[in-house]
Amino acid sequence: MIQLDNLDVKILTHLQSNSRESFQEIAKRCLTSVPTVKSRVDRMIELGVINKFTIDIDNSKLGITEAILLVNAKPGAVSRITDELRGLEEVKELYVTSDSDTAIVSRVAGDMQRILTIQDRINLTDVNNIRVLSVKNAFRKDSTIPLASTGITLTCAYCDRKVAGEAVRKKIDEKDYYFCCTTCQGEFEKKYNKLLAKA
Ligand SMILES: [Zn+2]
Repeated sequence: MIQLDNLDVKILTHLQSNSRESFQEIAKRCLTSVPTVKSRVDRMIELGVINKFTIDIDNSKLGITEAILLVNAKPGAVSRITDELRGLEEVKELYVTSDSDTAIVSRVAGDMQRILTIQDRINLTDVNNIRVLSVKNAFRKDSTIPLASTGITLTCAYCDRKVAGEAVRKKIDEKDYYFCCTTCQGEFEKKYNKLLAKA
């Protein structure tokens, strides 16, 4: 597993909220230099942590319908069906669950008429059941990285100790800081505000 540190996480957070943010801007916000940001980003691309820089399009503005496709199939047919589904333009995300019913769950988007023809476009041998549920409301959580991941080594901005478990993230003056606990966060803010008052 690849290990990330505070700076990697900060850079990723910036790029996740805006993949067009310049290295200059990110360097300024992370209190580091442009070459450092560039080398960190290059490393994360090389390691496959960053797969691509993408954009978020609001499908509803384009009249595109989203739906969930549920397929229940015999275990032996699952990989064939997933392969077929992956080849379809409307299929945006595909999950094979570990459920004993071996369900394939897929997020599909496109013209509803086209979505409904998916079942005519795949081989239904060994498919027990296939359903298309149109999405009424989508509550998409942001995809920011979970800070409690084992591959992330965060150090507390106040006590400098390695953060075990859930890190406390706090935005202070537009910059992200990580703490091991809310006590450290409080102490840091006190110190920070004192410094501000002196300045
Ligand atoms: Zn601490």
